[in-house]
Amino acid sequence: MEPRDLSSHTVYRAGRGIEEVARELGIDPGDLVKLASNENMFGPSPAAVDAIRSSAEGMHSYPKASHADLVARIADHWDCETEQVWLGNGGDGALDCLARAMLDPGQRVLVPNPGFAYYPMSARYHHGTVAEYSLSKADDFAQTAETVLEDYDGERIVYLTSPHNPTGAEFSTDAVREIAEDTDEQTLVVVDEAYGEFSDRPSKRSLLADRDDIAILRTFSKAYGLAGVRIGYAIVPETWADAYARINTPFSASELACRAALAAMDDDEHVRKSVETAAWAREYIYDELAADTWKSAGNFVLAEVGDAEAVTDAAQEQGVILRDCSSFGLPDCVRITCGTREDTRRAVDTLNGIVEVTEA
Ligand SMILES: *Cc1c(COP(=O)(O)O)cnc(C)c1O
Repeated sequence: MEPRDLSSHTVYRAGRGIEEVARELGIDPGDLVKLASNENMFGPSPAAVDAIRSSAEGMHSYPKASHADLVARIADHWDCETEQVWLGNGGDGALDCLARAMLDPGQRVLVPNPGFAYYPMSARYHHGTVAEYSLSKADDFAQTAETVLEDYDGERIVYLTSPHNPTGAEFSTDAVREIAEDTDEQTLVVVDEAYGEFSDRPSKRSLLADRDDIAILRTFSKAYGLAGVRIGYAIVPETWADAYARINTPFSASELACRAALAAMDDDEHVRKSVETAAWAREYIYDELAADTWKSAGNFVLAEVGDAEAVTDAAQEQGVILRDCSSFGLPDCVRITCGTREDTRRAVDTLNGIVEVTEA
């Protein structure tokens, strides 16, 4: 027998893991600096670690109260109804929930190129097809309503990423409103704010007050430092929020993840410190890196370095793991995650050494 036709499906290529690279190079993982996956430079909130330790004793139970508690906490934070909070196994899991709730077989979605690889994957898992809108490098990857609407042709879901991965560019609230207004009534605009905490701009959540065709995506993987436990959510309009109960997998958010997220939400200091250090690191990279960069609102900076594969390989040999953006269709760019001050300095020094040799 065979699985269904998966020929249009692609494989997600994650940034390389620290253990994987350490083993390959035969060095201690502690000697490596990993700035490849936009993870939190300070790790998780210590409060989240404590919460996981103390909830470990209860892991034989299905997560019911913890799911309800977390949803209530998030609804309170965003001033919305609890039904509007769709928890998922990471932001990716919440994207799956949206695709499952929206897509009939064969319906098309519109995704950014370059852009986050999981949007088209999720749509295809749910029997959708994929079209792209282009963000142009010549235009510094500007995210405007026109860029999206130019390529829009009645798709069921339009994915916007703000701040965008890997460019760091943002949409204005007006641009998102314009896109929602100028697309079909039955088109959902998903605003992925996975990096929202790092931006100075307000969330697009305010648009849900008078629209039923916008959903916001958030995750605990980035600013909250919980990528390993897999927890994220969508905020959806009240009018169709009850669809979640019909499409959610039972217990999709784990007990440990919900408890960790609850604790992390109460640790403002950890988020504040992470956001502040990311802002410092962005400026440091713009100023000190011997390569062109794009202004970013996330915890990463895209830089033009020439042959990205060769540069990331060379950096890795010196213990610095960066993201080669070839898989994003940007073979001359690397994405550098904002690290601690020490790690960011080391990454920039290493890159500068490599870029200067390559260019000499
Ligand atoms: C990291 C990321 C997500 C969500 O990741 P999860 O770990 O699944 O929460 C969503 N969108 C973008 C653009 C991201 O970079």
